[in-house]
Amino acid sequence: MSDSFPDPRIDRVLYSPEEIQAAVRRIGADITADYTGRTLTLVTVLKGGAMFLADLCRAIELPLTVDFMAISSYGPGAEGSVRITKDLDDPIEGRDVLVVEDIIDTGLTLAYLLRVLRQRRPASVSVCTLLDKDARRLADLPIEYRGFTVPDRFLVGYGLDLDGLWRTLPYVATLHDEIWEAE
Ligand code: 5GP
Repeated sequence: MSDSFPDPRIDRVLYSPEEIQAAVRRIGADITADYTGRTLTLVTVLKGGAMFLADLCRAIELPLTVDFMAISSYGPGAEGSVRITKDLDDPIEGRDVLVVEDIIDTGLTLAYLLRVLRQRRPASVSVCTLLDKDARRLADLPIEYRGFTVPDRFLVGYGLDLDGLWRTLPYVATLHDEIWEAE
């Protein structure tokens, strides 16, 4: 592990803490307006979505509950095949569910997750993502709320990790190409 901080392997800050918080406030206000009079269930995928969820849930002025899932993918060559390693604590039947994601890349993980959630007969399911890497999308997904459309680079920070590191950065950054190409 590097002993300097911020890490010299970080290339460029793409979204500052202020830009991220402005996006959180904007999305929170949109969700508040769209769901007035209803009770929301926010569902987040651990661990990456935790930072965004923590800020977003406080920017929504509605009664809401939060619940978490964890999934693991089967690795390269099996994109979109995921296994639930931690399921939701509570049933979502009849609930208005909003899936809160850190980033949507190919969309295959989310497509799987939406299939699983819809089988549980919620009243509605919508999707909110902070970062949308839309150039790589393979699955056709409805994304109702998005923070930023991002370039096709490997990003870290604000929940996004590389080998478990850099999730806690308050900004979203790119790494130098040679770092993530080596992964
Ligand atoms: P998808 O199924 O949409 O291709 O992949 C979604 C997951 O891939 C995300 O939840 C995230 O864990 C990971 N991912 C996709 N792009 C990035 C990225 O730029 N940085 C990091 N750290 N993870 C990413």
